[in-house]
Amino acid sequence: MEFNLSEEQVDIQKAAREFAQGEFDPDEASDYDRNGQFPLKILKKACHLGFIGMHFPNRYGGQDLGLLENILVVEEFCRQHSGIGVALGLSDFGSEMILRFGSEDQKKRYLPPIAKGERVSSLAYMEEDQTDGFSFFSTVAIRNGDGYLINGKKIFVVNGTLPGPMIVLCQLNKARSEDQVALIVEKNGDGPVLSMMGGQIGMRMVPMVSLTYNDIKVPQGNLIGNEGEGRSQFVTFLNEMRIEAAAMGVGIAQGAFDLALTYARQRVQFGQKIASFEAIRNKLADMVTRIEMARSLTYKAAWDLDRNGGNILLNYMAKMVSAETAFEVADDAVHIFGGYGYIVENQIEHFYRDARMVNVFGESGQTQRLLIADRIIGKI
Ligand SMILES: Cc1cc2nc3c(=O)[nH]c(=O)nc-3n(C[C@H](O)[C@H](O)[C@H](O)COP(=O)(O)OP(=O)(O)OC[C@H]3O[C@@H](n4cnc5c(N)ncnc54)[C@H](O)[C@@H]3O)c2cc1C
Repeated sequence: MEFNLSEEQVDIQKAAREFAQGEFDPDEASDYDRNGQFPLKILKKACHLGFIGMHFPNRYGGQDLGLLENILVVEEFCRQHSGIGVALGLSDFGSEMILRFGSEDQKKRYLPPIAKGERVSSLAYMEEDQTDGFSFFSTVAIRNGDGYLINGKKIFVVNGTLPGPMIVLCQLNKARSEDQVALIVEKNGDGPVLSMMGGQIGMRMVPMVSLTYNDIKVPQGNLIGNEGEGRSQFVTFLNEMRIEAAAMGVGIAQGAFDLALTYARQRVQFGQKIASFEAIRNKLADMVTRIEMARSLTYKAAWDLDRNGGNILLNYMAKMVSAETAFEVADDAVHIFGGYGYIVENQIEHFYRDARMVNVFGESGQTQRLLIADRIIGKI
C-alpha cells in the first residue's frame, strides 16, 4: 500500500493552498457572502492557473489529471474560505455528465469555456415530488421534429442564474416511462422560467433557483449519449460528485479547526491560555482525529475511482463521514471561540453555516446510511 501523495499531487496541493491564501480576502469574501454574489473575479483567476476542470483532458482546456488531484484543490479552497471554496468547487457542477458521456462536439463546445471561467455549468435533477431515488422524473422530454420539448419543474438548481450549459434530467415521452434522457439546455433565448429558492443559510455565493420548463425546445444534438441512458449516466455522475462533496466537507472541517486551534492558543481566560484546559484539548484532539478519518476515506474513494472506476460503498461512506465531520467540527470550533464565535467578523461562523450543506447535497446523510445498509445487508 502507498499512502503518500505523489510529488506532483503535493505540488498541486501547495499551489492551491498558496493561491487561496493569497486571493481569498476575508473582507471581500464577507461582501460576496452578505450580498449573495458569485465570486467570478476569483474564479477567473483560479481558471487562469488551471485549478478548475483539471480532470478534463488537455484538448478541452483541462490538465488530464484525475479526481484525486481535483479534490485536493477543492479541499484547499474550502479550507481557506468555505463560501468561496464551495462556489469555485461547484463552478463545473454537472460538467462530468458531458465529460464522461457527451459527444466530441459537446465536449469541445462546453468544456473549454467552463475551464476558463467564461461559463458555469449546472445540473437540474431535483423535483418537488421526488420520492424514489431519482428513478422517475415528472419533467418530461417529448420528441419533436429534430429535437425535444421539455415540460416540468426542477428545484434547488445551483448556478441557475449564471451563464453556462444546464443539464436537465427528464423522463422520455411520458412520466414514469422507463427511459430517461439528459439534455443540455442553453440559457439564452426563451429559456425556462427562473425563480430564486428564497436564500440559503450557507453556500450563499452560489445562486440556487427553481426552473419551470414550458415547451422548451432542445435540438437533438444536445442529447447526452443516447435515449434511455440518462439514469445510468446520472448514477455514475453521483459517484464522482459524492467524493467532491466529501472533499468540501474535509476542507471546511480543516479550515474551522485551523481557526479554532489558533484561537485556543491565544485566548486567555482565568489567567491561562484556553488551549491548556483539558476540555478544550480533548475537543481539539477529537476534531483533528475526525478530520483525518474523513480525509482518509475521501482520498481512498477518489484514488479508487481514478484507478478502478470507483467503489460505491466507499463513496457513500466518504460523503456521510465527511458531512458529519464538517458539521461537528465546525460546531466545536464555534464553541471554542465562545461568544466571539457568534460574531461574523471572526470568520468562523461561515464554516458552520456552509458545513450544513454537505450533508444534504446530492442525498441526505440518512439516505446515505440507508444505502450503505442496503448494500451490506442485501435482500432479507
Ligand atoms: C445546498 C444544496 C444544493 C443542491 N444542489 C442541487 C442541484 O444543483 N441540482 C438539483 O437538482 N438539486 C440540488 N439539490 C437538491 C438535493 O439533492 C436535495 O435537497 C436532496 O437530495 C434531499 O432531498 P429533499 O430536500 O427532498 O429531502 P427529503 O428526501 O424530503 O428528506 C427530508 C428528510 O427526511 C429524511 N429521509 C428521506 N428519506 C428517508 C428514508 N427513506 N428514511 C429515513 N429518513 C429519510 C432525510 O434524511 C431528511 O432528513 C441541492 C440541495 C441543497 C440543499
